[in-house]
Amino acid sequence: MTYQGVLTKMETEFSSPIQYYLVFENDFLNMNQLLDKTLIIQFVKYQCLNCGMDKPIYRQGFCKSCFFEIPQAADWIMHPELSTAHLGQEDRDLEYEKAVQLKPHIVYLANSSNVKVGVTRKTQVPTRWIDQGAHEAIEIVEVPNRYLAGITEVALKAHVADKTNWRKMLKNDIDDENLVEWRERLSDYIPAEAKDYFIQNNTETHLDFPVNQYPEKPKSLNIKKDLEYTGKLVGIKGQYLIFEDDTVFNVRANEGLVVNIAID
Ligand SMILES: [Zn+2]
Repeated sequence: MTYQGVLTKMETEFSSPIQYYLVFENDFLNMNQLLDKTLIIQFVKYQCLNCGMDKPIYRQGFCKSCFFEIPQAADWIMHPELSTAHLGQEDRDLEYEKAVQLKPHIVYLANSSNVKVGVTRKTQVPTRWIDQGAHEAIEIVEVPNRYLAGITEVALKAHVADKTNWRKMLKNDIDDENLVEWRERLSDYIPAEAKDYFIQNNTETHLDFPVNQYPEKPKSLNIKKDLEYTGKLVGIKGQYLIFEDDTVFNVRANEGLVVNIAID
């Protein structure tokens, strides 16, 4: 069987184990069913997720000109503290910014390789945690807009990491942390504007990824350079496909690439 389409991050379903789906225009692949099968992945061309043109992908699945123009790629996406829709101030497109920023947001702790703080829209819990490959996570505050979540994250970053070590995450080189204690400790540092939004009662969420074999020395596949790769799929964690020879493929980092996937 051969499938072709533009890569977008895998859709997921929170179950035990987590279910992963690769969604192409005409096909819907449950990746869990491909575990222990040999896949042949080929790079075909680029297809910007905004304009659809065959132009090199710059970031987040967009070509360079789209990345610097469209509201879906503005700075406040990666830096929520730069959000201004709550003040009625436009960055690139106020209607879009209001629709996204003026929604409930969650500041959370997730443990993928170490405990880190992050921000997500409420509707993206637990999807965001799955995408990061966190084996455990907990919510800290639920605030009414992205700005408040951003300034809370910035304040907490002084006391906890905000980055994941993807190699440790993939190797499953992890510690079980008591996130309830972590959030209690960090609650002192929540900024005054967000203090009232602290979620009083909360428990850890545990995530179970479909991995039969963890890589010892993960090496990242660059399909644009190699053009073709063949390997046996042995696991999926975060947005990574893990292969038997320790090759890992970050689907999210390759958004906007059209690939051909053949299943042996
Ligand atoms: Zn484009």
